[in-house]
Amino acid sequence: MNAREELAGFVTLQHLLDRKSALKHLLVSLPKELVALQASGESRRSALKEKHERREALGKEQDTLSREIDELREEREHFRKQKSLVTTMKQLTAVVSELDHVETQLKTREDRLLAVMQELETLDGELAALERESPEERAAREAAEAAWEAQRHEATLELQQVEERIKEVGRRLGPASFERFKRLWNSRRPHAVVPLDGTSCSACHAELRPSLVQQVHASEELQYCDTCRRLLYDPNTIAPLP
Ligand SMILES: [Zn+2]
Repeated sequence: MNAREELAGFVTLQHLLDRKSALKHLLVSLPKELVALQASGESRRSALKEKHERREALGKEQDTLSREIDELREEREHFRKQKSLVTTMKQLTAVVSELDHVETQLKTREDRLLAVMQELETLDGELAALERESPEERAAREAAEAAWEAQRHEATLELQQVEERIKEVGRRLGPASFERFKRLWNSRRPHAVVPLDGTSCSACHAELRPSLVQQVHASEELQYCDTCRRLLYDPNTIAPLP
């Protein structure tokens, strides 16, 4: 294999590795639409969480109030019995005062219990609505998920093809040449083989010696940028392998 063919093989490998990295990036980047849908799902979930917490607190308050109301009703029953048994005006006054006190406490708690139950009812309605995904939301999410799945599938297939092709080009180059490429790649990736940009290196933008530019144009042997040590090629004469 001559230098021109080897260079074409290296350029091909660089292109394939560029594509491989783009595909890998694509496979881990969620489409914007899906991200937006997930974000709206996220705000719905946080509203749900807040309401569930409020519901739990109200549920506890409801239990406490119910228990206190039961106790106060028993107390009231007790004082009512006492009232029927009093024999003096002084006793009656005392019992009536106790009864008034219990009634006041009872009234406060019953009013609060009613408010708690009303809020719970409202909350349950809101929770049910939040837990239901609207048909539009669902359709949009499913479409975005299906599109993403198809895109991932295609990218995965292409990635396999690219990997195969890299091996194939490696076989065409032969072990020694493939090793040379790998060493270059490992020290200069992700851009190890770079085209000339006029008379400059397109990677580091250094202006190249005229004789070096000449040699890159001639493609008779591998030529490297003096500044960044990347392999240079002339994009007008060297094309990736078919
Ligand atoms: Zn350079």
